[in-house]
Amino acid sequence: MYDVLIIGAGITGCLLAWELSAYEVKAAVAEKENDVACGSTMANSAIIHCGNDPEDGTLKAALNLEGSRRYEELCRRLKTPYRKVGSFTAASGREEEAVLEELYRRALRRGVRAELLSGEQARRLEPDLADCVTKVLELPDTAVTGPWETAEAAMEEAVLNGVDFFRDCEIVSIEKIPEGFRALSSGGRELSARVIVNAAGVYSDQVYGLICPDRPLSGGRGPLRISPRRGEYYVLDQMEPPLVSRVIYPVPGVRGKGVLAVPTVHGNLLLGPDSRDMDHPEGIDNTPEGLSFVRENLKRILREVPWGKVIRTFAGVRARGNTGDFILEESPAAPGFINAAGIESPGLSAAPAAASYIRERLIRTELLGEGFRWKKKKEWVSRKPPVVMAELSPEERNEIIRQDPAYGRILCRCEQISEGEIAAAVRKPVGAVSIKGVKKRVRTGMGRCQGGFCQPEVARILARELGIRESEVVYDRSGIPFLSEMEAEHEGI
Ligand SMILES: Cc1cc2nc3c(=O)[nH]c(=O)nc-3n(C[C@H](O)[C@H](O)[C@H](O)COP(=O)(O)OP(=O)(O)OC[C@H]3O[C@@H](n4cnc5c(N)ncnc54)[C@H](O)[C@@H]3O)c2cc1C
Repeated sequence: MYDVLIIGAGITGCLLAWELSAYEVKAAVAEKENDVACGSTMANSAIIHCGNDPEDGTLKAALNLEGSRRYEELCRRLKTPYRKVGSFTAASGREEEAVLEELYRRALRRGVRAELLSGEQARRLEPDLADCVTKVLELPDTAVTGPWETAEAAMEEAVLNGVDFFRDCEIVSIEKIPEGFRALSSGGRELSARVIVNAAGVYSDQVYGLICPDRPLSGGRGPLRISPRRGEYYVLDQMEPPLVSRVIYPVPGVRGKGVLAVPTVHGNLLLGPDSRDMDHPEGIDNTPEGLSFVRENLKRILREVPWGKVIRTFAGVRARGNTGDFILEESPAAPGFINAAGIESPGLSAAPAAASYIRERLIRTELLGEGFRWKKKKEWVSRKPPVVMAELSPEERNEIIRQDPAYGRILCRCEQISEGEIAAAVRKPVGAVSIKGVKKRVRTGMGRCQGGFCQPEVARILARELGIRESEVVYDRSGIPFLSEMEAEHEGI
């Protein structure tokens, strides 16, 4: 019997698990995929927005502000990437300038550092800013992070501190029992808990429907509904000097923040996303329409894009809720069942604050039972940060290679990643079990060749470390092999 069962290991579920693991609370996380960060947390713009954009009085605004203020310290503790690159919101013409001025006033009201610049002043700092831009809102505290690195690090530390993490554990039924709930996974695993937190992203309405088919929200706001909304991107190769050094936003519109240019923590540039309603939550394919929308709209913010530098495209799906705000509340019909739903942007930025908000609810409502005492654990185990050979001095590299020669064999030439780093990504707590899992942890296949050279090697190491046949290695999802038996033989892996 767990105290808390979290459904979904995106950034919301992972940070909640991390937060709970500091207390004497028996917690578990059930994730339907074979890894953390496989939903929205895997494919987004990776920006820690400052919090001036969401409407006044919303949870989005409050948690975005609080979350963004805590991110730097969070990433320092988890040893994950974080860079305060700053941002420009670019207006063209009087109408957009008026919106920009309102955003500026809102930023000041909320204590967010902000400044207004003329188009010329802004172009002196970002020479590739489009010529049509007449005014810019500068937010120096906008940052970028590694969303899946942060989710994975949080889950790793949660597991090191006693949380149970179940992969390939899609919750397909939930029933009420006297002590709380009993949940059942598609693989037949039974998990009982006093409290359930539904952090299932784009599936959170379906998961809520397992316990309350009518999915009521508090205050008679009708049934919870999540509408998937896709966003498509281009990724540009690392460039020196970078095309832009800050996040560049257009003035936001009714469909969100618009098409952006985002320098990533690893030196790439993201261009996107568009915003298209989907009838299916799994719609992560790129489309000619989505990508041409991105290309067309970039003209609002950038003078020219070096399209020859594109190394890949991808898409992510937003979990748009029907209230216009984050829904973080106990079900009015199923006490002890807490929804963390409708967590669309700025959900990544808000996640540290959303995790604390849920924990505080748990404390205040005494959901874990009247006699339950919230006690902090005396001992805390920190995760060991991974060795990143490319960031070490020649002396440090030599020392590590002396201890383990696998760190001297570079297998991913684009990102300069060694066999030792790949094997460590599989062996660590909450390690990779797929080619994509390795890619998310050490960046194999993220470079110019997109894994053309290193993927067979990664498959070989995965098979060796997991004790499985090469033909059983999966690219991402369980059950879908990367190579057929025959191809594996042909590749000699
Ligand atoms: C295109 C795009 C751009 C964005 N850009 C930004 C940005 O720059 N900044 C920002 O702050 N936010 C951004 N966001 C929003 C941010 O990515 C999300 O708010 C955040 O990742 C949501 O995290 P989550 O954990 O709530 O959901 P998810 O990451 O979707 O995680 C939900 C998890 O639940 C699992 N699950 C589902 N059903 C079940 C089940 N039945 N049993 C077990 N597990 C289940 C899923 O597999 C998934 O892993 C963006 C989103 C998108 C799509």
